[in-house]
Amino acid sequence: MGSVTGSADLAGCEWLQYDYSPALMSQGRPGSFTMWRYRKLLPVPDDPVRYPLPVGGTPLLPAPALRRELGTPQLWIKDETRNPSASNKDRATALVIEDGLRRGVDTITTASTGNAAVATAFGAAAAGMRAVIFVSTDCRPGKLALMTQAGAQVFQVREGYAAAVELSRAAARTFGWLDRNTGANPFTIEAKKTVAFEVWEQLERRVPDVMIVPVGDGPTLVALDKGFAELVSCGLSARQPRLIGVQAERCQPLVRAWFGTPAGQTELDPAATVADGIAVVHPAIGDAVLDAISRGGGEMVAVTDDALLNAVATLAGRAGVGAEPAGAAALAGLESAVERGLVDPLETVVLLVTGREVKTGGATAYPGRVAVVERLDEVERALADPIPSP
Ligand SMILES: *Cc1c(COP(=O)(O)O)cnc(C)c1O
Repeated sequence: MGSVTGSADLAGCEWLQYDYSPALMSQGRPGSFTMWRYRKLLPVPDDPVRYPLPVGGTPLLPAPALRRELGTPQLWIKDETRNPSASNKDRATALVIEDGLRRGVDTITTASTGNAAVATAFGAAAAGMRAVIFVSTDCRPGKLALMTQAGAQVFQVREGYAAAVELSRAAARTFGWLDRNTGANPFTIEAKKTVAFEVWEQLERRVPDVMIVPVGDGPTLVALDKGFAELVSCGLSARQPRLIGVQAERCQPLVRAWFGTPAGQTELDPAATVADGIAVVHPAIGDAVLDAISRGGGEMVAVTDDALLNAVATLAGRAGVGAEPAGAAALAGLESAVERGLVDPLETVVLLVTGREVKTGGATAYPGRVAVVERLDEVERALADPIPSP
């Protein structure tokens, strides 16, 4: 048995001393590496940003243990789980709300498979806006709880995500709300393209050979393509990376479309996959995804739920990165792409790890802030009463 103080090694030692001077302190502005670094390529005026949360500027991790395990010495993880609500949806949310704040809009709406809604609820809470969210009744309870904790009004739609998008967009038109629906609002693409600029800077002003990206509605991949294309247009890069899009085997409309083979019933079942964040049957900008992939010499791959769950464990155990299944899809996609000869293990490859499940401490959704609806008049009636406090 050792010492009960637990600090025997420090006893009698002096604290470390340095050659103190102002020069030792960082000269950079604290918190300055955010997506607003690229505002000259964003649709916002050049005055102070109003959106209060720091978004973007996420780390590009070298992941040495993962590199050794996979035999991929130039593998990097772009860790988008480090955004304020733990997914890449925070970028789109930030730019849409920034625009809304400048125009004095008081309510934002979106439909979502989960993460866009959580990001919108958190971002609206921070910005002092009302968030009205539309999700499928299949939406994960933990994500629902987070939305209501952040004060959002949530409407569940039984017919699923596509019907939720319809209702959210109709509500935006009818009530004059800010429409954050992915694929409907081009600002979502503008915001998400900043990932390309960050990766280029973090690789010392080089683009990778390949970037692997989970695909749901499509904006994440399409935005990366646009960002890398703008680097070429700016004369900062001679080429674009190949983009590989990853979908879950049980919900893979774009993989099937890429191969020109019709999807079977079991390949279009959003409730059947663990990858809820990318389980979209009718991707909002699917054609643009396929176009970007074919122009850039990329590929689409489908991965099983087992592979996704393995990828979650491998990211935790070999890289110290916590991801939800959709967030880990790029790693599962890499393994499949290497097997199929689409990626040479020696290439510079960046995995976009898009999201992590946020802890709710076991909390469930506040009942007063969740209602099942089918039509717009039900939404209007529900909103006539103030959103109750928990
Ligand atoms: C939304 C989402 C994606 C895919 O994004 P799209 O832009 O809809 O294709 C990937 N991973 C996670 C965790 C997401 O929430």
